Amino acid sequence: MANGVKSNKHDPYGLERWGDGLIRVLDNGNLAFWSPSRPDGAPVDIMRIVNDLNDRGITAPVLLRITDFLDLRIRQINDAFTAAIKDNDYQGRYQGVFPIKVNQQAQVVDRIIDYGRKYDFGLEVGSKAELLIALSHELSGQAAVICNGVKDEEFIQLALMSQRLGFNTFLVLESPRELDLVLAVSKSLGIRPQLGVRIKLTHQVSGNWAASSGDRSSFGMTIAQVMDLIEQLRAEDHLDCLVLQHSHLGSQVPNILEIRMAAQEACRFFVEIKGEGAPLSYLDLGGGLGVDYTGEHTASENSTNYTLEEYCANIVETVRFAMDEAEIAHPTIITESGRACVAQSSVLIFNVLEATHFDSNVPVEAAEDDHHLIESMLSILGYLNQQRLQECWNDLVYYRNEVRALFRRGQVSLRETAKAERIYLYVMNKIKSMVMSEDQLNDEWLEALNQVADIYHCNFSLFQSLPDVWAINQIHPIAPIHRHNEVPTRRAILSDITCDSDGRIDRFVICDGVSATLPVHELNHEDYYLGVFFVGAYQETLGDLHNLFGDTHIATIEFGEDGAFELRHEQEGDTVSEVLSYVEYDPKRMLDSFKTIVERAATTGQIDPGDRRGMIATFKDSINGYTYYEH
Ligand code: PLP
Repeated sequence: MANGVKSNKHDPYGLERWGDGLIRVLDNGNLAFWSPSRPDGAPVDIMRIVNDLNDRGITAPVLLRITDFLDLRIRQINDAFTAAIKDNDYQGRYQGVFPIKVNQQAQVVDRIIDYGRKYDFGLEVGSKAELLIALSHELSGQAAVICNGVKDEEFIQLALMSQRLGFNTFLVLESPRELDLVLAVSKSLGIRPQLGVRIKLTHQVSGNWAASSGDRSSFGMTIAQVMDLIEQLRAEDHLDCLVLQHSHLGSQVPNILEIRMAAQEACRFFVEIKGEGAPLSYLDLGGGLGVDYTGEHTASENSTNYTLEEYCANIVETVRFAMDEAEIAHPTIITESGRACVAQSSVLIFNVLEATHFDSNVPVEAAEDDHHLIESMLSILGYLNQQRLQECWNDLVYYRNEVRALFRRGQVSLRETAKAERIYLYVMNKIKSMVMSEDQLNDEWLEALNQVADIYHCNFSLFQSLPDVWAINQIHPIAPIHRHNEVPTRRAILSDITCDSDGRIDRFVICDGVSATLPVHELNHEDYYLGVFFVGAYQETLGDLHNLFGDTHIATIEFGEDGAFELRHEQEGDTVSEVLSYVEYDPKRMLDSFKTIVERAATTGQIDPGDRRGMIATFKDSINGYTYYEH
């Protein structure tokens, strides 16, 4: 609902709806993190973190990774399944796995493994590299390693050998073609595989990732292929190896009814395959557990109409019902929730570099020889009041357009047109502030304000740090991390630092929905910092080097006592030299050739020796510096 959004001075950013209690406003107007795991703990002031990092030379843009939130989510997911299992008298257990592709950063994966150990939380891998990550960790004996994706001989060898080392590894067959290779490698190693079969569900879920479910999805076997596989396994005397069924429900599934329906279909396959004689005992339902990015709690793309508890209860109940009906022992339920595990644990912080306004607070004086249209524009200030706002807006736009038309026909001068433009900006400023002071804005006014919203130019790259915002219109909640004790008096869209007109954000979560502009504060002499929340899933992994803006700095934060925090790990963002080498340049050679150019200019007298030294020093500093705007 791009327009149906009201301004709300109490909570303009809708923090209470999407913040889930994790993000709070302090008395000093700063935002703070708060963890329910420390109910008596003081919130951690985000501005304090940013200032502390600044002192250490870790400047914005910076990605904050909050380990406490990773811990929290893993605990919440496991606790919610445990509760659902108890409530439903379910006889099997739950064992989650983290799909590494959602955030492969070592700091994240290491902590997930640590926090998840007591729950036998495992890993899902989709490539050899990801399998190597899994095998380089001490997982608990029962924690599952689910091998999805296309597998070559080496991948299969590693997976099979890991079984010997005590890993609970499952080779999930994605296509009929894979079976021959798996059987050949397993025979040559003398290791019987723990096999899974990935089945395409016919049920297609809605949302941004609808294409990853249903008949036309890329991965998994069709009903006919599953039947062929069972026959082949039987013929090869390996049907007893088929212990796991994998049916990925989707990603960010917004509607709980669809989760239920997809789970139901998965159970039908499970029952039938078991009936064919395969000793299935694990039912893996893949991803799908959504994150309520907008806090709307609806079945729309960036939201969910269910809670974590409902998700777990619905799955456990659906599986129990299907298994009881078929008189089959309750299987171990596996889910591969990536987004729900990690999205909330990262926040991108950047500063605003400057603003482009489409209004001005500089008054314009009348002059005796003013054109009559200019007089008319100035006269609007005489009848501007709350009741006549719309009329004033209409008149202002009309007169301004008339002046522009006369300018094009050569009937008014550049000087007069510039004056008309300045009056337009000034009167627009008055109108905007009167509109913004309203408690409730109607849809028409919001739409009108959006047309004249500011552009805040920000120190980040959308393509590097928020690629899903560009690619699939993902919405992340955004709010300033300070000045919450001041009413935001302006509305803006955000533009990034790349030279690409797509590098902008123009959909925001606000008090009761989604708006085309973000309420923001007027810039003053201090840096203005915005936080983009819930960016822990997929964003780091998918980012790219548009305009050669590289990885941002990353700071891994752990909460301490009384609102304190510890910087657990800091990772410097890419230097210019690093991003240049990613695209096949040799920074040393670049410096050498720059030196040659400078030398020639010095020899011919174009520059003096002092310039020469300064130029080379600047080149060197730039090549070793951060790719983002530095003060
Ligand atoms: N498992 C598989 C096989 C996937 O393809 C995906 C993502 O699409 C996931 C798990 C993670 O899904 P989500 O991040 O929605 O939990």
